[in-house]
Amino acid sequence: MALIVHKYGGTSMGSVERIQNVAKRVAKWMRAGHQVVVVPSAMSGETNRLLGLAKDINPDANPRELDQIASTGEQVSSGLLALALLREGIDAVSYAGWQVTVHTDSSFTKARIKSIDDKKILADLNAGRAVVVTGFQGVDPHGNITTLGRGGSDTSAVAMAAALKADECLIYTDVDGVYTTDPRVCEDARRLDKITFEEMLEMASLGSKVLQIRSVEFAGKYKVKTRVLSSLTDPLMPLDLEMKSGTLITFEEDSTMEAAVISGIAFARDEAKITVLGVPDRPGIAYQILGPIADANIDVDIIIQNQSFEGKTDFTFTVPRADYQKALDLLKNNVQSHIGAKEINGDPKVSKVSVVGVGMRSHVGIASKMFRTLSEEGINILMISTSEIKISVVIDEKYMELAVRALHKAFELDQK
Ligand code: ADP
Ligand code: ASP
Ligand code: MG
Repeated sequence: MALIVHKYGGTSMGSVERIQNVAKRVAKWMRAGHQVVVVPSAMSGETNRLLGLAKDINPDANPRELDQIASTGEQVSSGLLALALLREGIDAVSYAGWQVTVHTDSSFTKARIKSIDDKKILADLNAGRAVVVTGFQGVDPHGNITTLGRGGSDTSAVAMAAALKADECLIYTDVDGVYTTDPRVCEDARRLDKITFEEMLEMASLGSKVLQIRSVEFAGKYKVKTRVLSSLTDPLMPLDLEMKSGTLITFEEDSTMEAAVISGIAFARDEAKITVLGVPDRPGIAYQILGPIADANIDVDIIIQNQSFEGKTDFTFTVPRADYQKALDLLKNNVQSHIGAKEINGDPKVSKVSVVGVGMRSHVGIASKMFRTLSEEGINILMISTSEIKISVVIDEKYMELAVRALHKAFELDQK
């Protein structure tokens, strides 16, 4: 008997029929003698609908209220799933994060899980129940409901698996595993049987939304055995086949993995770029520009400071597109005159494309191959950033898909 955490995403919970299928699958695992905790997302489109309603009422909605509203999607889907399980003849109970309790900090809309009480869940499991716990949410020390950021149910599930010391965390989604790149953008994308934790971390942080980055961080920190697999297969498929399907995140590199120099291509479509021109090149200038941006809770990604010329330099960085106007206004109103910058401009329509692979450590020429491929497609590179196992470029948004497909081909990711 094993303790398994299942996570089902929005598409997997997207209709009455799909929820019934989830219940059939969970029932199959329970009948095989396993203990199962299920973490569902809201039904597909529901979180967007709820956030849309909030913005319609108040475009500058208070983050606490946004969380109060957005968290309800998961409460509905959890209750529905518990009902479907009961209908399947499986004893089941659902809880919201605050009932468990899932403790988080108070950063509304991007809260972090601090701890999870396991008592109630273990008692239910030991009484033979399937336990359904809302994804995406928790409660802060003051009793406020918080949410974990978009895609946060992945993190709820892996954190739950870590807290319960579960044998495995199965992330059921609408694709049958982690691919070399998003199969919706590149039809030649290939499913990986395994991916190293480090590569998955890079892929997630560079924009592959198949797993939320914090879920991968939890998996790494607590060594949670995590597998990404499809929820759209026959729910009654044999358990031994299901247990081997999808993509396993591994913690060791094996020799076959080292053979692949590049294991995947990630992209972040909705980025924006801001340039502060003609700033005096003196100590503290980066802090004076980026400090106020950080204080406004805006994530800065790639940062480039040019070589100074006659004591002046240019400073460029990227932010999520949704924060572009806020960041630009902040710099123009509060920072520009203060630091004596000549001009501030930006481009709200850029994207980031990255190649990722642990094999890069032992191979040279990856960057030049990437740049040559993009130049052959006539794609201009606006910014470059590298680390030991990835190379990222910022390009005009309109070339993003072309870049992904061209790089996928150039690095022969379609071939095993
Ligand atoms: P869920 O609702 O189950 O959480 P998401 O939409 O958050 O599902 O994530 C699954 C989606 O991630 C897929 O439908 C796919 O389009 C996208 N995706 C992006 N990059 C990858 C990748 N490398 N491998 C697989 N899927 C990816
Ligand atoms: N329902 C939330 C979202 O849409 C969380 C999740 O699906 O993981 O972002
Ligand atoms: Mg998701």
